[in-house]
Amino acid sequence: MSTTRRPLIAGNWKMNGLKKDARQLSSQLAKRMAKVNRPGFDMVVCPPFPMLALVADVIKGSGVKLGAQDNHPQVSGAHTGDTSPAMLKNVGCSYAIVGHSERRTDHGESDALVKAKAEAAIAAGMIAIVCIGETLKQRKAGRALSTNRKQLQGSLPQAATAKNTVIAYEPVWAIGTGEVATPAQAQEVHGAIRAELEKLIGAKEAAKMRILYGGSMKPGNAGELIALPDVDGGLVGGAALNAADFWAIAEAAG
Ligand code: PEP
Repeated sequence: MSTTRRPLIAGNWKMNGLKKDARQLSSQLAKRMAKVNRPGFDMVVCPPFPMLALVADVIKGSGVKLGAQDNHPQVSGAHTGDTSPAMLKNVGCSYAIVGHSERRTDHGESDALVKAKAEAAIAAGMIAIVCIGETLKQRKAGRALSTNRKQLQGSLPQAATAKNTVIAYEPVWAIGTGEVATPAQAQEVHGAIRAELEKLIGAKEAAKMRILYGGSMKPGNAGELIALPDVDGGLVGGAALNAADFWAIAEAAG
């Protein structure tokens, strides 16, 4: 955590919960957020698409921001079942997660597609949270850093700035497994990502860009991860479904 980059705590609800769950979780967070005078972190929740409008209403004015879990790379058109960035922005999203490993795996998303999605999210006025991360096989083969560098090179939007883009480092082996990267592992990759960003967008912008850690982040491990020099918050899955846990993670950030 640096004093110049404002921590971001993002909750990825994935494909979980019905209307009553979305209402309850978002209102608990909104109430807590509204009570904090000047929070030292930004908070965003990313519910499933059908819950976005409902959650937008609940969190309105609270300071909790809304995000989407994905977006189509195009503005509109014949794309059955897809959702455009303009629609997401229109229902209140200010962030969009792109390139989550579950989408890369379940939907065969390539770096090029992730990049196009991130560029479309930015063009619609949202902040793209671009996910990258190595598999266990890649880590065991000594390719953790090179895999993340390559994904970053391929997925980073063309006009990426610290204002319109956030990177999420999510080791695939840590997502939903209860296995978390050690502080040394996390800092090594986050440091390498920032060094690569320096080459891609220049030192000044790289120094300002937020890099989140994601992968079994919980209240018990968030503090030591977020305290690392190049970790600027978290992208949280399982623990984001519990308001007290998610809030505790945010408090560890500020
Ligand atoms: C995620 O889905 O982005 C994630 C990090 O999940 P979890 O926190 O459950 O590992």
